[in-house]
Amino acid sequence: MSKIWGDIVNIVASRPELLHFFRSNAVVSIGDGQIASFWTDSWSGGFCLRDEFPRLYSLSNGKDGSVSLYHSNRDASRNWVFNFRRPLFAWEEGELRRLSIHLSSFPLLIANVPDCLKWNATPSGVFSVSSAYHWFELGFGSSCMVSSSLWKNAAPPRVQFFGWLAWRGRIKTASFLRRIGMLNGNVDVCCIFCKEMEETSIHVLLHCPFVWWIWSYFVNWWGLQWVLPGSVQDLLDWWAGCRHTKMVKKIWSVVPLAILWSIWKQRNDCVFNGVQRSLDALCENIKVIIAVWVKSAFTLDYFVYDLIRDLNQVKIMPQFEYDGSGEPIGCTLDVIIKTT
Ligand SMILES: [Zn+2]
Repeated sequence: MSKIWGDIVNIVASRPELLHFFRSNAVVSIGDGQIASFWTDSWSGGFCLRDEFPRLYSLSNGKDGSVSLYHSNRDASRNWVFNFRRPLFAWEEGELRRLSIHLSSFPLLIANVPDCLKWNATPSGVFSVSSAYHWFELGFGSSCMVSSSLWKNAAPPRVQFFGWLAWRGRIKTASFLRRIGMLNGNVDVCCIFCKEMEETSIHVLLHCPFVWWIWSYFVNWWGLQWVLPGSVQDLLDWWAGCRHTKMVKKIWSVVPLAILWSIWKQRNDCVFNGVQRSLDALCENIKVIIAVWVKSAFTLDYFVYDLIRDLNQVKIMPQFEYDGSGEPIGCTLDVIIKTT
């Protein structure tokens, strides 16, 4: 491997958010579809289908197929045809329906025009160092507290990146898709939860009454009170301003991302699969996610059940952190850790 590629690989390994940034902005402008990979290139909607539909990708017998190949394999009704290595389960059929809906807005292929890369972070569509540097400063500049809120926590990189998109107001809400021309002007862009307000990023993630109930539930879970933040920035600022001891902070810092992520997944379940979950069930699921993420990211052992059922007890119990050999380090930490 050349030194240049070695440096690039090292940077990606140490800062995975840079890879996400590149992948989300380097999209394929589709021409005849002969070069673009159906599953692994970002040619439809700013993300690659392998990441958005990982189960379908893993089951596909045509992982290397081009867009052109899949396009030409459509049936007489112009439905996309997939060759999976086994029959799909019911929930996988739901994923397939979601993929089909997504592909219904697929742009037409343009004969004799090769596919090419386009850089979405600049108006010209051409990559520039300054655009990448501007993004870096915005997300990681020393004066920006948001960087630690979004990136330094136990959430998986994919979720952290979603948090960044939410912070930038770039998640693919109905309102956003209509603004960039992917939805017709006459398409209903009402919030799927309250069915009253337009589905903007800030509404569906924070201000919708349905969603606001969830945020309030979790703030109360921690025994705190707050007022409605005006933006995701305000939300993250407030969250970062709450003081906790070191170990409690490991849990606290992941809560907003777990909520944002879960709300968006619930929204997608409602829109694409018609699945409605009770608020109580959704909140319980978010607690499980928080517990599992923290448990997975740090070499700490505690009962997931403890965190879910009695957070206060977890916060006040004596705490041990374990070193690499499994021996406890001191006993001054303040979140219970138990070997399971
Ligand atoms: Zn709403």
